[in-house]
Amino acid sequence: MQLKNKTALVTGSTSGIGLGIARAFAQEGANVILNGFGDAAEIESIRAGIERDFGVKARYDGADMSKAEAIEAMMTKALAEFATIDVLVNNAGIQHVAPIEEFPLAKWDAIIAINLSAAFHTIRLALPAMKARKSGRIINVASAHALVASPFKSAYVAAKHGIAGLTKTVALEGAEHGVTANAICPGYVLTPLVEKQIPDTARARGITEAAVVRDVLLAAQPTKQFVTVEQVAALAVYLANDAAGSTTGAIIPIDGGWTAH
Ligand code: NAD
Repeated sequence: MQLKNKTALVTGSTSGIGLGIARAFAQEGANVILNGFGDAAEIESIRAGIERDFGVKARYDGADMSKAEAIEAMMTKALAEFATIDVLVNNAGIQHVAPIEEFPLAKWDAIIAINLSAAFHTIRLALPAMKARKSGRIINVASAHALVASPFKSAYVAAKHGIAGLTKTVALEGAEHGVTANAICPGYVLTPLVEKQIPDTARARGITEAAVVRDVLLAAQPTKQFVTVEQVAALAVYLANDAAGSTTGAIIPIDGGWTAH
């Protein structure tokens, strides 16, 4: 699939990895539908900036990915305007770091809803038009935590392992219909999501924030460097293109060697 005049919907694309992916798709000529939370004026400036920089249509939908009805309304609106979503990127995600016996129940439910169930909803709603056209790309932004665990991240690790399973199942169901489904598994990328968990991890482990970066985050990555948003976005662009037509059901690490341990 070449991306010019295609439509890509990227959940959680007002910040971090999702925004990088949306901009990379727009750069390839795709119309993009942004989603996520944030300051309305800032989001409008991001949206208008994409249209101005890349000459594509950019829409924004503020649907809350923890709510099935909101997801359904977003997908209905997107399909009404663009007829199909050629590339669906399930990226919205949150994190909470706490020992399991203290893990807040509401955080467990929110992480499972946003990081896992939201992808089930977008996929089930996007698939019919993809199958009808015999063409579609589903890209789930999972994590190295889809392959390995870390302490104090029970809900996140469970949701990310779950999305790996969902990815493989969708790949099998889509295989004869021109629809691929793959999961990207980044190691640590220095986005607001990671910045926010540094103080919590410091508290949970009883160490300083500098020690969290050195001894917890980058200790996991043999390269000793954060993965960049641009590297993750380039992998997403590859998976959306024709060259990746036979890549499906793949759970692909981009983690500086973390899961090679
Ligand atoms: P981020 O906090 O910068 O971005 C998260 C995005 O999700 C934002 O746009 C936010 O508004 C949106 N979002 C959060 N809750 C939402 C909700 N209920 N409804 C709609 N949108 C919502 O984080 P990021 O690091 O860019 O993370 C993006 C994805 O990448 C997540 O799935 C995360 O688990 C995954 N990931 C991140 C890293 C990392 O190190 N940063 C590593 C591996 C995987």
